[in-house]
Amino acid sequence: MKIHGDYHTHTCFSDGKTTIIEMVRTAKERDLREIAITDHSLNKIFKGFRKRNFERYCNECESAKSEMPVLIGLETNVVSVDGHIDIDDEMSEKLDIVLFGVHVAIFYSFRGFFTFFLPNVFFNMIHYVPQWLVRRNTKIVKKAIEKNIIDIWTHPNRYFKIDVVEVARTCAERETLIELNSKRISFRPVDFERMVGLGAKFIINSDAHTPKRIGETSRVEEFLKNCDYNPADIINLTQTYTEYRNKGKNDDIIGTDQERNTQEQEPPKKRRGFTRWF
Ligand SMILES: [Zn+2]
Ligand SMILES: [Zn+2]
Repeated sequence: MKIHGDYHTHTCFSDGKTTIIEMVRTAKERDLREIAITDHSLNKIFKGFRKRNFERYCNECESAKSEMPVLIGLETNVVSVDGHIDIDDEMSEKLDIVLFGVHVAIFYSFRGFFTFFLPNVFFNMIHYVPQWLVRRNTKIVKKAIEKNIIDIWTHPNRYFKIDVVEVARTCAERETLIELNSKRISFRPVDFERMVGLGAKFIINSDAHTPKRIGETSRVEEFLKNCDYNPADIINLTQTYTEYRNKGKNDDIIGTDQERNTQEQEPPKKRRGFTRWF
């Protein structure tokens, strides 16, 4: 299975193992047409992003563009029960792509800590997650996708249990892509088919923390063997993210992939906006 671009990768700016340029060069060697660098955002407790490094982060992504098309992104976290995420205006302004996912070791707001983090950690420990908590988690994730402009919802249902089909409704309305994460998919093929039925679109990402895993898709391939799907619903099987977002804008560019590649592409339409929480 060949993807056109990988849109979820980490570098040593957060918990990845290597530099931006090394990740980008590997993506180029593997014949990807586009890559997004998406380090963990500010509220991650261990090896999170440092705001003081943001300018250098953007500069290194910019200079790596001499190798191949690179999108500057971050993987943000929900930090409050009202769905706020951990980026600010300045960062949002410079990013090409904003990912969002639920993670565990995050600095939460006071209420977020007691009503989201603690109950989830407790019930995960005893391996029983009550329905009221799944409903609460689902509501929080839906709010994050409603209030902020999120390009990709990463690893749905990982860490804290969520009604993925319910969130997919919001993703379809908000044009947020749902990730098929090639490390692990935490929902069933039947859920995937229901989400597609609601009009949600998907994207395959490696979540690579090392160059070795860039462009990796084998687990997703295994998963999809059990699913009835149309490749057009998984956007990077047929195009790059930039092509997907610019649809309509580049319709006059016709020809083979090769010809399209040589024509100057505009960067993806910026999808910005989030709710301030601090
Ligand atoms: Zn993540
Ligand atoms: Zn990640």
